[in-house]
Amino acid sequence: MIEKLRELLRSKAGIGIGAVVVLLGVIAAYMSLRGVMTSEASALSADRVFIDAKTGKPYELELKEGMPMPAPAPSGGNTGYPAEKCYWTKDGKTKKDPTYVLLNRYIGKPEPTFCPDCGRLVVGHNPAPEEGRQAPPTEDEYKKTRGSGNRR
Ligand SMILES: [Zn+2]
Repeated sequence: MIEKLRELLRSKAGIGIGAVVVLLGVIAAYMSLRGVMTSEASALSADRVFIDAKTGKPYELELKEGMPMPAPAPSGGNTGYPAEKCYWTKDGKTKKDPTYVLLNRYIGKPEPTFCPDCGRLVVGHNPAPEEGRQAPPTEDEYKKTRGSGNRR
């Protein structure tokens, strides 16, 4: 009788340990994913490039608490907006040094923003080029696909 009870406990414990191992695996995967995401976010905030809407020139800004938005800019006023980075070229290839782009929506313009260098669509948190990722549409391409519901 006691022997059987022991066996039962053992098998239950076995199942319990198995579940814990699976759970730990899930937690570990979650933590490592989170670690990647947070390190990406902090790398992003470490080099904050802003654009002075008055001059159109990018500049680096260290964000401080209580800083006004738009942020203080080199031209003297508070006309600094966060810059989006565009890593594309006119012929749909990628480049290493990004073009810093001021989004129209930051300055109250409703129309989409196109990169002054390559003429391609730039959006908030503009995705960096990746293996298999297509170049964003140019202004012409964007206007052509807009009606067909093929918006990205
Ligand atoms: Zn560009």
